[in-house]
Parts: sequence; structure tokens; C-alpha cells
Amino acid sequence: MAAVIEHRCPSCETLVSTSRATPVALGPPFLECPSCKGFVNHEPFEEWSSMGARKRFTWVGTSLAVAVSLGILPLLACGLADIISRERTSPRTLLFIGGTGLFVALAITYANLHQRIRRSRRRMSDPMYRAKLVKYQMSATGSPLGS
Ligand SMILES: [Zn+2]
Repeated sequence: MAAVIEHRCPSCETLVSTSRATPVALGPPFLECPSCKGFVNHEPFEEWSSMGARKRFTWVGTSLAVAVSLGILPLLACGLADIISRERTSPRTLLFIGGTGLFVALAITYANLHQRIRRSRRRMSDPMYRAKLVKYQMSATGSPLGS
């Protein structure tokens, strides 16, 4: 089981959210505390526009690897059924099952990634959100410009 990160408000200790510990994730890099409205660090989340090529590649690659793993499950199940029943499924049927499983898993993953990138771009096109992001980044880096 993957480790879980707790995102707690640094001011009032309120648990704002939890997320899986992954090297990179797409989403807002900060959250707002529901109690005191302070900024809460939302690592490892980053917006699409601030991810470098390497992080984008890691994020997309990880998602595709999961999709491929899930996509071949029907094929593995079919192979297992063959072993148990001592019958042989035709190679054509196996190809069809494997191809369909992969196609469905990759199509769902593609749609999901596409939607999440679109949501990230929508957030970044909101001037209010960008202003909060700048304010958060200033407070996180301890810049004297931050309040
Ligand atoms: Zn708080």
C-alpha cells in the first residue's frame, strides 16, 4: 500500500486533505484551510503549466503504466481460465481480448488525463486563482514580498 501524505494547516493544524505519496501529481499546489483560510502545502501536486518536461513525462508515463497493467488483466484471466479448464482459447480470441482490454484501459486513461490537464489550464486561466498561487508561492519561499 502506498504511503499517505496528510495536508495539515500550518497555523491551526486542521487536516485539510490526504493524498497518496507519489513523485508527481497534477492539481493545485496549495489548498485553503477551511477554518482559518490560510494556505496549506499540497505537495506533490503541481499545475500542468509549472511542471517541467520530466515531471510531465513521469506523470503521463505512470498513468499509462497503470493503464497497461489493468488492460492486460482480462488476458491474464483468460489464460488462467484456460489452465483451470484445460482447454485452449484460440489465439485470435486471445488477441481480441488482449487488444480490447488494452484499448479500453488506454482510452479511459487518455480521457482522464486530458480532462485533468484541461481543468489545470482552466484554473490557471482564472486571474483570482493565479493571484492566490503567487501569494502562496511568496509565502512558501519566505519572500519578503509575501504577507
Ligand atoms: Zn487553518
